[in-house]
Amino acid sequence: MNAPLKLFFFAIMALFLVSSPTFANPTAVPRLKPNLKTVAPPAKPAVTVRYTSQRYFSDSVPYPRLAPHLSEKTTRKPVIFIDAGHGGRDPGAIGIKGTHEKDITTKASATLKALLEKTGRYTVVLTRPNDSYLEHEKRLRLAREGGADLFISIHADSAGNKSAKGASVYTLADRAKNRSKRLVSNSQNWIMDVDLSKQSDPVGDILVDLAQRKTESQSEQFANLLIAELEKTTTLVGNSHRRAGYFVLLAPDVPAVLLELGFLSNAQDEKLLNKASHREKLMRSVVRSIDQYFSQEQK
Ligand SMILES: [Zn+2]
Repeated sequence: MNAPLKLFFFAIMALFLVSSPTFANPTAVPRLKPNLKTVAPPAKPAVTVRYTSQRYFSDSVPYPRLAPHLSEKTTRKPVIFIDAGHGGRDPGAIGIKGTHEKDITTKASATLKALLEKTGRYTVVLTRPNDSYLEHEKRLRLAREGGADLFISIHADSAGNKSAKGASVYTLADRAKNRSKRLVSNSQNWIMDVDLSKQSDPVGDILVDLAQRKTESQSEQFANLLIAELEKTTTLVGNSHRRAGYFVLLAPDVPAVLLELGFLSNAQDEKLLNKASHREKLMRSVVRSIDQYFSQEQK
């Protein structure tokens, strides 16, 4: 490189450094992604906004909590959210004899609620107490706002293969975890108790990661207990513990499973699912697994 060219090169480098925000303001944290809220200018700059990130670090807890954890609130009963799949204009799967999935899920959920309440150990909430249509997002929002310690979504399966029958339990699949994360960062933080918009993105990502990992192991733990109990009372499909990206499983801080009670596309299962006694038998298995899950949690 000859001398004038070298000089030119250094001049360009110097210009670049000086113009970079990190250089101009050494305290500025380089951002990985632009944050919508920080890009938009404040509406009334006259009012000094005390940035709340301070608050998160001023108390004894170094990081904001995503949702209150049960073990730290032993005075209250665990909150169980039961989510009856489909409803209203969405019938879900339709059986060979015309059974609507939404009717089975509504009835099973009501039974489960009654059985759980009878124990006196739980606060039980139905995401939809009647036959109404409810967005997936709304179901998750209700669970988070209601401080759910466990979220069980109840469904009935359908398959092209008419011989497929039995119950199965779903937890969140690995491939859906980024979707769960995006849900947090792209949706005005609707899913978070803390406002992550004031945090730098890497911090937010770490918080979601931590919550997600804990939730994941809790969901897996509950799914295993549930399968073990269901196994004692009913037929399970071959691969009974499955993983999927169902929207209702996406909350990064609420342990959640999706229970498929059986196949409406199978004549035998459809008949069974229409029987109150069979649904009650299944729901008693769910209660036993919930009892086990929370007795383990408390230890
Ligand atoms: Zn369904």
